[in-house]
Amino acid sequence: MLNKKIKIVFIGAELNPLIKVGGLADVMGALPKALSKLGVEVLIILPFYGSLNKKLYPSKLVKANLKLADTKISFAVYQTLLAKTKIKILLIKNKLFDRQEIYLDQNKLQDTERFAAFSKCAVEAIKVLNLKPDLVHCHDWHTALVPTILDEYSLSDKNFANIPTLLTIHNLASQGLSTLELVDYLALNKKLTPALMEDYYDDQDKLELLKIGILSADAINAVSPTYAQEILTKKYGAGLEVYLQRRQKNLSGILNGIDTDVFNPQTDKAIAKKYNVNNFVKYKPVNKQALQAKLNLSVLDVPVFALISRLVSQKGLDILKPCWEALLKQDLQIIILGTGEKKYEEEFRILNKKYPAKFKAVLKFDADLAQQIYAGSDFFLMPSSFEPCGLGQLISMRYGTIPIVRATGGLKDTVRHKKTGFVFSDYNHQALAKVCDLALNIFQQPKAMQKMIKAAMLQDFSWDKSSQAYLKLYKKLIK
Ligand code: ADP
Repeated sequence: MLNKKIKIVFIGAELNPLIKVGGLADVMGALPKALSKLGVEVLIILPFYGSLNKKLYPSKLVKANLKLADTKISFAVYQTLLAKTKIKILLIKNKLFDRQEIYLDQNKLQDTERFAAFSKCAVEAIKVLNLKPDLVHCHDWHTALVPTILDEYSLSDKNFANIPTLLTIHNLASQGLSTLELVDYLALNKKLTPALMEDYYDDQDKLELLKIGILSADAINAVSPTYAQEILTKKYGAGLEVYLQRRQKNLSGILNGIDTDVFNPQTDKAIAKKYNVNNFVKYKPVNKQALQAKLNLSVLDVPVFALISRLVSQKGLDILKPCWEALLKQDLQIIILGTGEKKYEEEFRILNKKYPAKFKAVLKFDADLAQQIYAGSDFFLMPSSFEPCGLGQLISMRYGTIPIVRATGGLKDTVRHKKTGFVFSDYNHQALAKVCDLALNIFQQPKAMQKMIKAAMLQDFSWDKSSQAYLKLYKKLIK
């Protein structure tokens, strides 16, 4: 093993920049790049979704067949490279994935079957292309069945004997619910797969892909050390805590990084005035003024609080609700960018009308505006009820915007109270209001505020550290 290049196959449902719904895509895109800098060879297997531009990916490698529900299906494997890298992406083409949406109905039967079929196609691709990986790294419920399928393949093919597997949990909220019919649909060999069989007998008519993955992968990791601890408890375990507790010895937490080339106030083309840790005092206010003007807010040196998020209660929208009007009584401004649940969007439309000079909610997805808000605000609100890792707080610190977060998951691991941000524990609006007061207070003390901004901007949230941690874990699993 010493001098041989380690070869890892990633199998997952999303990949930035090809196709993204959430943080899973960011990890699938950024971690392989960081690993290849460490000398690891990574191949990524992804469904060939109908929304991908077919003209960009013309290179067909191979055609293959497998059995699904008593019928043979055929699929093709296309190959492309991750932008500006030599990292190979293998796209699995079959009509199951050839549609505009990635997810038809998260966690519903049809999707579970599609991604279980994708998992089997991915393993078959490993076989027909003779990839011989040292380890297979799968992600979330979509590919949680991969360790089971690899076990099945090892029965008839010695190349599949003892390939170690790692399952990364990006979010426990979706678990991939299915029925026993899936076993026949995938033509799985029941006797060989204890984890599958346990689920099979546990609950007479349902299977849960993520549970099977947790029980069968050689190791499991969550995307922050605190989330890895929290999911062992009933409060955060989403019903899977008992299985995670059983695997506790093989469970770890590795923090996600951010792409520090993309999120860089010194080179960001989307913002009004580029800046860095040495000149933010002079240039960050230029971004604030440009942002206020763009959003038709009064151009004033008052504290600006921002929120960029999916508008769902997980992100603390329910405890923020009683805070908005109380905050708006003071001399400050609030900027919101997001889409989500109707009740929150409606609430923000009302506040937009009531406070036109100091409250602005933009209810859409807009990557450039997001960068402008990160650059032009003073405080970033992220009071989540749970947060596997969270990117918003990392980006905001990189842009010198002080995060206000609840002590949970990756937020707890990355923000230090009164040093790089403000942190509160109890999930209620009173506790949140208290730290907002602390923020307003520090805003009145420019020297103290600048010290915090500097400390936040100097944090290292690149993938360098985390990719080392993944490499260490891979090496432990590859004997
Ligand atoms: P999650 O993956 O749970 O939605 P994260 O904080 O991990 O939350 O990642 C969310 C990412 O999406 C952040 O980079 C955030 O800036 C971005 N984002 C969320 N909503 C919007 C929006 N409406 N427009 C632009 N970017 C957004």
